Amino acid sequence: MNIAFDNTYARDLEGMYVPVEGAPAPAPEMVLLNEGLARDLGLDPATLKSPEGLAMLSGSAMPEGATPLAMAYAGHQFGGFSPQLGDGRALLVGEVIDRNGQRRDIHLKGSGRTPFSRGGDGKAALGPVLREFILGEAMHRLGIPTTRALSAVATGETVWRETPLPGAVLARVAASHLRVGTFQFFAARGDAIRLRRLADYAIARHDPDLAGTEDRYLRFLERVIDRTMRLVAQWMAVGFVHGVMNTDNTAISGETIDYGPCAFLDRYDPMAVFSSIDTQGRYAYGRQSVLAQWNLARLAETLLPLIDPKSPEDALPAAQAAIERAPAIYAAAWRDAFAAKLGIAAPTEEDDARIDGFLELLGAGGADFTQAFRGLIAAAQGSDTRLWALVGGAPGLQDWLADWRARIDAQPGGATAAAERMATVNPVYIARNHRVEEALAAAQKGDLAPTQRLLQALSAPYTPRPDFADLEGPAPEDFGPYVTYCGT
Ligand code: AMP
Ligand code: MG
Repeated sequence: MNIAFDNTYARDLEGMYVPVEGAPAPAPEMVLLNEGLARDLGLDPATLKSPEGLAMLSGSAMPEGATPLAMAYAGHQFGGFSPQLGDGRALLVGEVIDRNGQRRDIHLKGSGRTPFSRGGDGKAALGPVLREFILGEAMHRLGIPTTRALSAVATGETVWRETPLPGAVLARVAASHLRVGTFQFFAARGDAIRLRRLADYAIARHDPDLAGTEDRYLRFLERVIDRTMRLVAQWMAVGFVHGVMNTDNTAISGETIDYGPCAFLDRYDPMAVFSSIDTQGRYAYGRQSVLAQWNLARLAETLLPLIDPKSPEDALPAAQAAIERAPAIYAAAWRDAFAAKLGIAAPTEEDDARIDGFLELLGAGGADFTQAFRGLIAAAQGSDTRLWALVGGAPGLQDWLADWRARIDAQPGGATAAAERMATVNPVYIARNHRVEEALAAAQKGDLAPTQRLLQALSAPYTPRPDFADLEGPAPEDFGPYVTYCGT
């Protein structure tokens, strides 16, 4: 197998990782291969399905040119600092340059124990691996920056959680796996030399136009703030709850990373939480921008000694000012995203009240978030029936609609053009929790058809298809409250 690896992390960042080997996989079997992504990476799907390909994607044997390693990182988990986390069940296989000239990490999750495993078994079960596959594809197809799954390989091994489960390894692709927690690892140790090397590496990789400039560390901080706050605004616009926004799960690339206890909203609820351990609602849907800003403040702290090596405290005002701009960056991105959902082409601050007004109606009526925006498209086309049914008896809908109609009618192209635009930004299909669970349950019994069907619907989320009508709606009442888990 001939893969053109170019492993800058292994080469340039010695001392920031541990070389590791993956665990053997007794009977590796391809469960899902993302053939389109493979081709984008210049990898031949047939080769990836060969014994050598399966060995790489399960972690059991690496091809020439791979430099498997476990990355060191720290992290604030639910507000408490762990100075040493690191890849406890993951390894970086290497980097390739994709068809667009972008450097991409190929990384495995569930590939066995590493020096960072602490008490864990280093493994992953098939269900959560497929879940990350489905959710990542859903996000990518919604146009949201994200890591993506390249493959899910069953290992043939049993993984023990509360019950015995089929083991699997996820191969995922990312712009990088540098996290806020990677910076924290070296900052916490007072290792200024490695910290600087790491920051220069991150800049060369993600913000190369800043490389070598005098104020690059502050500018880099601003860039990370900008892309992270924009990312969270995009999550909000599709009703996505990440669920475990710890600093070790906050990528500095601006990609969504680590699909653990995440979920999409059915009913609109700013306080929605799905993670079993988030009892305080720290990472609730409506708190994500605040927590992203908190994570970015932790990144800023690590960069102070680089921004001003002689007296880091003098760097504080500039770093603080950058952090304080985060809410405005978020507000603008949020307005753009939600105004587009309402068919408003050139939003101003005055539209914020209009957006909030609609969301309040959804909250009061217990409306399904995704379907309500589709209902609004029908309203723009002249039929309110669906929207009324979804929002129920929420008072104020009539007044809100009148004001919104006047707003979109006054735009070039009027309501017709607005409806056309709205149909391109309001998805029909999201990865509904009950559908994901159904697909995973079938997959664990060896039936991949529901997973493949779901992936197909999610691959064109804005295109309604009569044969996928059953995938549109929210969970039935008897599905009950949805709970998701970390570290599965
Ligand atoms: P996560 O919740 O997936 O972001 O993981 C947080 C930390 O726990 C990371 O350092 C992981 O590598 C580690 N971890 C999670 N599950 C396991 C496992 N089964 N074995 C070893 N380490 C794990
Ligand atoms: Mg993680």
